[in-house]
Amino acid sequence: MNLHEYQSKELLAKYGVRIQRGHVANTVEEAEKAAQQLSDETGAKAWVVKAQVHAGGRGKGGGVKFSPTMEKLKENAGNILGMQLVTPQTSAEGKKVSMVLVAEDVYYPGETETKEFYVSVLLDRAQGKNMIVYSTEGGMDIEHVAEVTPHLIHNEVVDPAVGLQGFQARKIAFNLGLEGEAFKDFTKFIVSLYNAYVGIDASLFEINPVLKTSDNKIIAVDAKVSLDDNALFRHKDLAALRDTREEDATEVEAGEAGLNFVKLDGNVGCMVNGAGLAMATMDIIKLSGGNPANFLDVGGTADAERVQKAFGIILQDKNVKAILINIFGGIVRCDRVAQGIVDAYKAMGSLPVPLIVRLQGTNAVEAKQLIDDSGLPVHSAITLEEAADKVKEVLGN
Ligand code: GDP
Ligand code: MN
Repeated sequence: MNLHEYQSKELLAKYGVRIQRGHVANTVEEAEKAAQQLSDETGAKAWVVKAQVHAGGRGKGGGVKFSPTMEKLKENAGNILGMQLVTPQTSAEGKKVSMVLVAEDVYYPGETETKEFYVSVLLDRAQGKNMIVYSTEGGMDIEHVAEVTPHLIHNEVVDPAVGLQGFQARKIAFNLGLEGEAFKDFTKFIVSLYNAYVGIDASLFEINPVLKTSDNKIIAVDAKVSLDDNALFRHKDLAALRDTREEDATEVEAGEAGLNFVKLDGNVGCMVNGAGLAMATMDIIKLSGGNPANFLDVGGTADAERVQKAFGIILQDKNVKAILINIFGGIVRCDRVAQGIVDAYKAMGSLPVPLIVRLQGTNAVEAKQLIDDSGLPVHSAITLEEAADKVKEVLGN
């Protein structure tokens, strides 16, 4: 689950990470109030208006605007609110902006130059450890840095059992070329950041840029936080931060129905129980010359209601040319699943694409009989090969 920049920053601040402060606004009037309030609190003389959408590269798309006066701030807020923001990380149609963050300007001139760094914290699955990835080349596209100057990207592996050690924090600050007050401030910053990452069960932090201000403070100017969905059960407060407007509508609907659904690009819709079987089903669709249109795990119960819901979700995808149901009946007997499919089909009246059903396990033969006797135009199969052949047949391959 991804968070907005403003939500990410609020969480980081709770762990003592210094952030670029700001307030959110949904209208130009609110933006003006937010700016005024921010100036009262922080003494900010200028502001930035930042579109709040789940996509990076907002600056490039015109979603981040420096605002040196109140007039300019209102103009920028007016332009960004309601805009369809296209960035290198959105689709061509972009994302609608319904909220902005009015933040204090932290790039003010001073005794020393400002510097932008890149810092991320993530899980390194291969090593089973956390990793801090950092670079002196902050503020820009890190993928580009990785391609052109990979030697400027460093890794620091952190053993989760002992946490980030002082010497590691100092090493990172040193590699970023920091000294004096900024060096000290950075070591505090990175320790707090790492503690936040562990504390909220995140799977990714990306802070780009981390800024060294002209008066040598270290600040998170941007913040992208992804939370580990599997840990949300112990963070009810964080689960409430979900903004479903930013997610794929079909996946949200499936999630609410308790279906595990991921949309893919192919033409064969799949309805399967169990993640392993779902993966195998996608393989067999490929082998038969088709392409899976989705991953859909209906879970333990495949009654008429759930099957009907799953049909509805699969059929929202106009690329779907056939549906393959592949269910292993263990505790849930195949004949009961078959009855569920038949009932769902009858309740829907008709399906716009051919349906192939493969039921294996307890009472598989009875289940096939039940489907064959239903009078519905369903292709039934017991073995995987049969199912694959039927998919091939209906696709005309
Ligand atoms: P992103 O484009 O989605 O990654 O959004 P960021 O939050 O990283 O902002 C994009 C860029 O806006 C930053 O790299 C900065 O160069 C600039 N920016 C952000 N905050 C300020 C600010 O307070 N003052 C000024 N002058 N520029 C800022
Ligand atoms: Mn950024």
